[in-house]
Amino acid sequence: MLRNQFFRSQTVFAGSKRFYSVRKLAELDASKLIVKQVSEKSSPKPNDQLVFGSTFTDHMLTIEWDAKKGWANPVIKPYGNLSLDPASCVFHYGFELFEGMKAYRTPDNKITLFRPDMNMKRMNKSAARICLPTFNSDELVKLIGKLIEQDKHLVPQGQGYSLYIRPTLIGTTDTLGVGVPDKAMLFVINSPVGPYYKTGFKAVRLEATDYATRAWPGGVGDKKLGANYAPCILPQLQAASRGFQQNLWLFGPEKYITEVGTMNVFFAFKNSKTGKKELVTAPLDGTILEGVTRDSVLTLARENLNPNEWEINERYYSIHEVAERAAKGELIEAFGSGTAAVVSPIKEIGWKDSLINVPLLPGEQSGALTKQVASWIADIQYGRTKHSNWSQVVADLN
Ligand SMILES: *Cc1c(COP(=O)(O)O)cnc(C)c1O
Repeated sequence: MLRNQFFRSQTVFAGSKRFYSVRKLAELDASKLIVKQVSEKSSPKPNDQLVFGSTFTDHMLTIEWDAKKGWANPVIKPYGNLSLDPASCVFHYGFELFEGMKAYRTPDNKITLFRPDMNMKRMNKSAARICLPTFNSDELVKLIGKLIEQDKHLVPQGQGYSLYIRPTLIGTTDTLGVGVPDKAMLFVINSPVGPYYKTGFKAVRLEATDYATRAWPGGVGDKKLGANYAPCILPQLQAASRGFQQNLWLFGPEKYITEVGTMNVFFAFKNSKTGKKELVTAPLDGTILEGVTRDSVLTLARENLNPNEWEINERYYSIHEVAERAAKGELIEAFGSGTAAVVSPIKEIGWKDSLINVPLLPGEQSGALTKQVASWIADIQYGRTKHSNWSQVVADLN
C-alpha cells in the first residue's frame, strides 16, 4: 500500500529520480486552466439573507485525477451537479476529505485568503492518509484565486462577512473492490457567508461527552476526513435533547478534554495563589484536528499577552481539572476556535449531574480574552493589521 501511495504521490516523489522515471504523471498545473463561464452572472444576495453554506457562487473548480495520467487540466465551470457512477468508492468506503477556509474583502478592496498554505498542507496530509493523490499546494491556491476572481462580485462586504471556500477531494474508482483508488476528483465550491452569530457573540452550553468518542490514538481525528463527522451527529442530538448545543469531547479514562463540536477548544485559568493566568489547549497528539485558527490563537497569544501575567500551554487537561478549578474560582474563560465562527465563547458545561459555570463579562456573551482574541484575528483577516504572510491577495476589485 505504501509503495502504491508513493507512486501516486507526486509531491513526496518528485525528488526521487528513480521512481519519477518509472511513471511520469502530470502535476497539478494552474497554467492549464480552462474556464467555461456562466451565460449570466447572478447578483449578490443582501447580507442579511446569507445563511452559512446554503448558497453558492456561480462557478466551481473541478480537477480529475487518474493513476496513469496524473492530474488533468483544471476546469472552472458553472456550478452544478456532479455525475458519478453509483459504484464510485466515495459512496461506499468513505474516500472523501475536505477543507474549510475563507476569503475576505479588505478596506482597499482586495480579496485575500487567510493562511491558505496551512489548509493546503493539511489537505495533502488528509489525502495521503486515505491513499488519494496529493498535489502541489501553490498551484491549488492559484486555482482557488482564479475561481474567486471569476465570482468576485459575490464576495460579501462588511465585518463578519466572507466567502467560505470548500475544497473537496473524492475517490471516483467505479468498482466495489476495496483498494487504492485509481481515479479521483478534486473540486472547490464557494459560499458567501455572514457572521456565525448574527447579533455578536452568543455563548454556548456544552455537554461533556464520555459515552461517545470522536477520535483516538492511532486513528484519523487529526485529518479532515468526511468519515469523522457523520458519527458525531447522533451524540450532538442527544446533547441537544438535554439542552446543550455541542459536545465537549472527552477522551480516555482520564477524561481529557480534546475538542468541542467541530472546533478546537481553549480554557483560561487563574491560579488563586500566584495570580498567574494560563491559556490551555490540548496538544497535537494525533487525536486533535490541527486547526489553523488554533495555531493563530496560540501564535497571537504568545506574541501579545504579557508573559509575566500569562502562561500559554499545549498540554493534557481533564474535565476533572476544569470542574475542580471552577469550584475554586480559578476557571476564568473558555472558547472554541475554528474557521466558521473564528471564536465561540462557552458559558456552561454539563458534566454528569452537575453544571460547570464559565464566567462571562457582566452583561456580555464572552470573556475579556475571548473578545480580545476575536478582534486580533478579525483585524488581520479584514486587512486592518498585517501579520507576516498570513493574508494572501487573490483578487483586486479596484
Ligand atoms: C476544521 C476543524 C477544526 C478547526 O480548524 P480550523 O482550521 O481552525 O478551521 C477543529 N476541529 C475539527 C474537528 C475540525 O474539523
